[in-house]
Amino acid sequence: MKKVISVVVPMFNEADGIIGFLSKQLIPVLSGLKYDIEIILVDDGSVDKTVEKVVEKYGDNEEIKLIALARNFGKEIALTAGLNNTIGDAVIMIDADGQHPAEMIPKMIEKWEHSAYIVTAVRGENTTKHKIGSKIYYKAMKMCGNKNMVVGAMDYRLLDRSVVDEFNKMPEHNRLTRGLVDWLGYPQEYVKVHTKSRMSGKPTYSHKKLIMLTIDGLASTSRTPLIIFGYIGVGIMVVSLILGLFILIQQYILGDPLKLDWSGAVAMSVFIAFLVGLVLVSQAITALYISQIHVEAKGRPLYIIDKRKSKGIKNEEK
Ligand code: UDP
Ligand code: MG
Repeated sequence: MKKVISVVVPMFNEADGIIGFLSKQLIPVLSGLKYDIEIILVDDGSVDKTVEKVVEKYGDNEEIKLIALARNFGKEIALTAGLNNTIGDAVIMIDADGQHPAEMIPKMIEKWEHSAYIVTAVRGENTTKHKIGSKIYYKAMKMCGNKNMVVGAMDYRLLDRSVVDEFNKMPEHNRLTRGLVDWLGYPQEYVKVHTKSRMSGKPTYSHKKLIMLTIDGLASTSRTPLIIFGYIGVGIMVVSLILGLFILIQQYILGDPLKLDWSGAVAMSVFIAFLVGLVLVSQAITALYISQIHVEAKGRPLYIIDKRKSKGIKNEEK
């Protein structure tokens, strides 16, 4: 029996480019392979004609399945919905906008056939608009203990079935797909790719979204931010203790030999303002963690599939 390769493609408002991507990039590469193919298109609540276009062109294609989420859940959840529904011996995640070069797929599969569990595409040269953003992102992640994170590693990946099965057991809502895959700990192999510019449309990840994703990613994978603020708190206490002692001895015990003539009220108000700031910041951080607990504690399903719009997936069968 032939092995099956599944390809998961998250789509959000990709009506302009999706058919071109499938017919000119993805399908030509896949049809040259000696595997059975399953393409899982996950529509992440597009409000344009993405679903209609796909159904019109590929509605009868047995290899192409469609999962239509009931609303926009975000790329990470869309990928998860796709991964949950794959049957392939290997699963490839690729963006719908043509930025992940489909030509790399045979190379990724070759590495997998040589027993790689995970094949991760790494940006050869960084040409994206999020250049600085992604640098800061990786620095922050590394500082916070995600040591085995490779700079430039993308969501463009091949995962062995055993990895996907483990991935599917992870229930959290606040998720960064590549973070979770890294967390699993399987050895990874890498292929260098040159990312392209978007075929059409605009990137849907705004800077604001990326910053939030980074913050959430940090709070969900690492306690380091909390610990850093612990250190800052201790540092401030030590410094203010020393300063306080200095003022006490210099001004009040020795009678101001240095002629500084500091008013006690000034020193006090500076300290208090500083400490109030510190308390506020650490409260904000605590709130971040609590809000995550809140989301997880509700135990809601990760995503909702619109069964009437979807086709060919196992959840859809009655
Ligand atoms: N995407 C998605 N849901 C979203 C945002 C994006 O499924 O809420 C998809 C999008 O259609 C594309 C991929 O995720 O296939 C990457 O999105 P985008 O190109 O906007 O991000 P970037 O390339 O800037 O990382
Ligand atoms: Mg893109």
